[in-house]
Amino acid sequence: MNNSVIDPPPVKTHWDCPECGGTGTVSGETCPECLGAKYIDIDAITNWMLDFMESRGCDRAELDQLRTENPDPLTLTFCLELCIALK
Ligand SMILES: [Zn+2]
Repeated sequence: MNNSVIDPPPVKTHWDCPECGGTGTVSGETCPECLGAKYIDIDAITNWMLDFMESRGCDRAELDQLRTENPDPLTLTFCLELCIALK
């Protein structure tokens, strides 16, 4: 009899910086978002996504709703694509 241990899902706490695409630099300069670290944490990417969506003219009420829900970045990616597709 084997007691199979279910591996916990990998927790991703660091995300490739969307501003520089994980390179640490933007146009030869240190990336202003991750400051050259190439990664940002989940709070930073959530804020970045929300600001990005706002700059794309996504619905304000929807963004406020998302801010209160603390969505994960994958959900936000989906929302962002949806928002852009609707434009
Ligand atoms: Zn960056």
